[in-house]
Amino acid sequence: MDKFWQHIPIQDMTDAQWESLCDGCGRCCLQKIIDDDEPLMYHTRVACRYLDLKTCRCEVYDQRQAKMPDCTKVTPDVVADFDWLPETCAYRLVAQGEDLPSWHPLQTGDAKSTIKAGMTVKKWAVSERKVPADHWAEYIIEIQQLEED
Ligand code: SF4
Ligand code: SF4
Repeated sequence: MDKFWQHIPIQDMTDAQWESLCDGCGRCCLQKIIDDDEPLMYHTRVACRYLDLKTCRCEVYDQRQAKMPDCTKVTPDVVADFDWLPETCAYRLVAQGEDLPSWHPLQTGDAKSTIKAGMTVKKWAVSERKVPADHWAEYIIEIQQLEED
């Protein structure tokens, strides 16, 4: 298989190539709490209500921006600005000129290899359907310092 991400600049990728980079880890679908005063971002293990925690896929992918206004669309134009994406995020890695990890579906040819490698949120995330927003602070897993404007 052509390892297109190693030689095609992200701006020149087709939509299908760009979409195929997502490894389906579900990490970007975890809720965050932002403290604008500090400024800090608190990452939680509470997953968006539309994340299917069995498959780690979005249940409303084609209408996600309409269903969830906070859902962020990662595109080649903005990926460099999203420093909150996890370090393992395939978009982030490729935008930084790095290779995809060995467990990535594009490397293995197996659509389920991210789950098999234990790299999804499936085993430790909890759906926001079970955790109301005023309890998200009890599920913080990481605190990130944000850059001042
Ligand atoms: S963190 Fe990146 S690779 Fe993982 S699901 Fe989100 S966009 Fe895809
Ligand atoms: S709407 Fe879908 S893609 Fe967006 S955060 Fe929720 S689960 Fe993730």
